[in-house]
This record gives sequence, structure tokens and C-alpha cells, in this order.
Amino acid sequence: MNGVASLSAAHRVAVFGGTHGNELSGIALVGLWLRDGAEIRRRGLEVRPFMANPRAVQERARYIDTDLNRAFTPENLSSFQGEDLPYEVKRAQEINQIFGPMGSPDAYDVIFDLHNTTSNMGCTLILESSNDHFNLQMVHYIKHAVAPVTCSVLLNDHPRLHYSTTRSVAKHPIGLEVGPQPQGVLRSNIFESMRLILKHALDFIEHFNGGVEFLPCTVEVYRVVERVDYPRDSNGNISAMVHPDLQDCDWEPLNPGDPMFQMFDGRTVQYKGDCTVYPTFINEAAYYEKQQAFVMTKKETLNANGIKVTKS
Ligand SMILES: [Zn+2]
Repeated sequence: MNGVASLSAAHRVAVFGGTHGNELSGIALVGLWLRDGAEIRRRGLEVRPFMANPRAVQERARYIDTDLNRAFTPENLSSFQGEDLPYEVKRAQEINQIFGPMGSPDAYDVIFDLHNTTSNMGCTLILESSNDHFNLQMVHYIKHAVAPVTCSVLLNDHPRLHYSTTRSVAKHPIGLEVGPQPQGVLRSNIFESMRLILKHALDFIEHFNGGVEFLPCTVEVYRVVERVDYPRDSNGNISAMVHPDLQDCDWEPLNPGDPMFQMFDGRTVQYKGDCTVYPTFINEAAYYEKQQAFVMTKKETLNANGIKVTKS
């Protein structure tokens, strides 16, 4: 479609930290903004900082009973409240009440969910839909604002690989994933990168609400196509590590025949696919429990419609 589509203003915005209690950048930033929100205040916007999983934050653990960032399924959100539910399922219901209900007109317009990764991914924005033109325009704006620093865009809209994120309660969910940073550690460079991306994101929303027109554009994204597990022995135990040629090479091309894993006995496991892919979340610490060594993506260019705010 050419031309410029009219969209409603985005007045209610939330910034989540501590969806995972051992990812300290978002926890520190949200803690800071809960004490003094001047930095995230914008004209015509309610910006609400929020600690998503306070018990996990207190324990410095990813979660208490189950991963909050996989808990927002229709079944969980409709489970009877009085039942003896896992802590994160109860928390998902509370978050859905405060910021949702998911899929309803009452839901928050935007939720930014702040995460750290142990992988060498740099600054990454995560989208859940290739049709959300508001979000596509926002990531386009952010990418230009932070250039020449790279901000990659990961698109996860695969019906099988998609998962039920905390941010999915909002009309426009967007994840911020910055790394590398070990779990339970704060690094100033990662903290400042995250802070800067959020600043530009809020500026974008303020400009949009204020009547700035954003012209049609294109956005380069990495679309999730597969999750790759470690090689395993007959007992299901890991029998290889990420190959040194692949380690820390997030977003770089992996071609047929390139090394993927190094077996404990020294042999190399090569990538046997028939086309170039772009691995990311390589050797992410939190994904060992999810039986995932990395995520394979394909590079794609999406067209974003022009957008402007509907005059009220
Ligand atoms: Zn996380």
C-alpha cells in the first residue's frame, strides 16, 4: 500500500524490567525510573515503569516456578484464580488485568520489555508481527537514531516457534534485548545502550502523537525460522559445544558446510542446510533448559506503510 495510514494515538506506554529476575539492566533502569520518572516523561503520554516479576528480581533468579515470558497463554490467563497456580501464572493474570486485557481496546498501546542476553547480539529489538506498521516505523526510527551503532531487528511471528510473551498483552509489543551481559551482572555499556534505545523509542511515540508523518519505508529484519538444539548422546546429555568459529558470531552468515558445533571428542559438526542463515542467541545461558543452542534466522526486508496519527 502506498500513502499514509491513519492510526490512533499511543497514549499509554509501559516499560517492563525484571520479566527475568537475573537480567539486571532493565531491573536497574526500571528501579531508577520508579524513583524518578522525569527521564521517561513525554508530552501527551503516560509512561509507566513496572517491575514484572518482583519475586524473581528479589531472588536474582530468572523465575520462581516457571518462565513468565512464556506464561501469557489463553489457558493460563483464563485459569481460575483460586487454584493453586504457579507464581508466574498468577503474576501473568495480574499483569493482564493491569495492562490488558490482551487483545481488548482497553489494553496498553505499547509495552517495552527490557531483557539482557549472554549472547553477543548487541542491541536487538524483537517484533512479534510483520504487519504492525506502528512498530515497524518505530524500529526504523530507532535504527536511524542510533546509527552508526547497529540495532538489529528480530522478527518472531512463526506460528510454531512463537511464544506467549509478557509484552504480548499490549497492542504494540516490543522487546529490547541487549548483550552480551552475564546473568546477575550489570555492565555500564549495556545499561547505557538500553537507556538510549528507550529514549529514542519514547521520542518516536511523542513525535507520532504530536502529528509527525512517517513516510513509507523498508526495514531489514531477521526472521526466526528454526531453533537448533545441541548434539546429544543416547541419554539426552549434551555432547558438543558451540564451535569456536560460530561462538560470538551472532547475526553473521552461516553457510552450508560451515562449522556449527565442536564435539567433546574433537569432531566438528557442520551446518548441512541448503541456504545461508543468520544465527543469533548463540550459546544463550538461559536457553540450555530450553534445549536450544541458537536460533536460526533468515534476512528479509519488510515494507512499512506510512503512518500518521488520527486527528481527534
Ligand atoms: Zn530475558
